[in-house]
Amino acid sequence: MTAFPLPPVRGKILENASLAPYTWFRVGGPADALFLPADEEDLQAFLTALDPAVPVTVLGVGSNVIVRDGGIRGVVIRLMGKYWGQIEALDGITMQARAGALDLSVAKAAAQNGVRGLEFLSGIPGSIGGATRTNAGCYGRELRDTLVALHGFRRDGSKAAYRGPGKPGAQPEAHFSYRHTDLPDDLIVTRLILEGNDTDAPEKILADIEQLQARRAETQPIKEKTSGSTFANPDPPGTPDQRSAWKLIDAAGCRGLKVGGAQVSPKHCNFLINTGDATAADLEALGELVRRRVLETQGVELRWEVRRIGQLASETA
Ligand SMILES: Cc1cc2nc3c(=O)[nH]c(=O)nc-3n(C[C@H](O)[C@H](O)[C@H](O)COP(=O)(O)OP(=O)(O)OC[C@H]3O[C@@H](n4cnc5c(N)ncnc54)[C@H](O)[C@@H]3O)c2cc1C
Repeated sequence: MTAFPLPPVRGKILENASLAPYTWFRVGGPADALFLPADEEDLQAFLTALDPAVPVTVLGVGSNVIVRDGGIRGVVIRLMGKYWGQIEALDGITMQARAGALDLSVAKAAAQNGVRGLEFLSGIPGSIGGATRTNAGCYGRELRDTLVALHGFRRDGSKAAYRGPGKPGAQPEAHFSYRHTDLPDDLIVTRLILEGNDTDAPEKILADIEQLQARRAETQPIKEKTSGSTFANPDPPGTPDQRSAWKLIDAAGCRGLKVGGAQVSPKHCNFLINTGDATAADLEALGELVRRRVLETQGVELRWEVRRIGQLASETA
């Protein structure tokens, strides 16, 4: 039983729910309560009724987070299931997706509707809600390049809407930078309108998506328990002579380095992997060791790209 009252819902609430199964790293302690809302109305009613003192954290598919071993206090919300995965083609080159839709599903749905320009999403193994928070991108395109508008709720249940960068409209404009957005921290994104940049034959776009995925599988440990790029590149894309995090980590001699069950991937050294029995503390300690070695030997202070959330085990003991 949680220390705070939980409003009635139509979706599901799991108390003291382990979060490890919901993250790519498969590590992390429990949430006091895990809420899986049935739909937007259920989410809004819950947020409005929940004691404002109770912290709320939203998780996508956990492909960019380390949930610490002590878990997350308050309520964790996941927008998963059939309703939250809905995607539809609007007119022309515009698509609408609910926040729980996988990036790959959005890329494929766009392709099937003959919309070009969203193929890059097939390389990102997260949800489209998570992609908004992280301004996810690859192959020269980022979420911000495609965003027409987004909708969601603030922590108090109020509705919020933003227009994409440079798009017309009365709503405030959402601002993004490299793997970052300045949208309010308490915003839960529920729905997005995205646009491609051209039309083409669906089979051609789908073939390009397959190629992108094959390229990924060759260069990244995508079958491992990982969280993608651990550190942001020190220079954003497009910078002349861009310094990349993996090269700095390699030059610092960290490829294959281990702490407990955590290892710097021998295949792509900006990826950390859980070799089987890693704790969140192992992963975080390894990341900090890599940062120290890169600073000492390469003179560059790496910035965590993976979000570390929740409490240390020692904070809950
Ligand atoms: C093998 C691998 C390869 C990867 N390659 C890339 C890549 O090429 N490019 C790239 O950019 N990333 C990459 N990533 C990282 C990751 O997939 C992206 O950051 C992705 O956008 C995270 O989405 P998610 O649903 O997993 O979010 P989560 O990891 O669950 O959460 C990430 C953040 O988003 C927030 N969030 C999630 N959902 C919502 C929502 N509905 N509303 C508001 N905030 C929300 C969370 O609170 C958290 O702060 C890779 C990861 C892996 C494992």
